[in-house]
Amino acid sequence: MTEWRLIETAPKDALLLLACEFMPNDWRIKIGGWREDVGGWQIFGASWEPTHWMPLPAPPTGGKHMQDDHECPICAVPFKTGDLCSTDIDLGICHAECLEGSLVVDLDTGDPVDGPAGIFSYEPPKTQD
Ligand SMILES: [Zn+2]
Repeated sequence: MTEWRLIETAPKDALLLLACEFMPNDWRIKIGGWREDVGGWQIFGASWEPTHWMPLPAPPTGGKHMQDDHECPICAVPFKTGDLCSTDIDLGICHAECLEGSLVVDLDTGDPVDGPAGIFSYEPPKTQD
């Protein structure tokens, strides 16, 4: 059985599930990995310090191939109609929540701007008849 382990024992060469307790019984769990170049944990869409980790589950088999813009490149969860999304200059469309805390740039100039990024409700692309 897989259980949460202390961050001190985490491998630093793989993506992991990382967790930290913000408030009593208020755990945040996200995917991240160790960044050797910055000597710290990078958590996608967040900036807290993890205290526990767990290996990621093996990926499913027999998945349907989806177009890249149908799922969030950060959390890999497919978008649903009405999800609050934002466009990242490198990643494309992501959940606005997943982009929280990341640098907001002007998509035309690439210059950093003070947030908020343009947030919109996700609409599935229209199927072609
Ligand atoms: Zn996401």
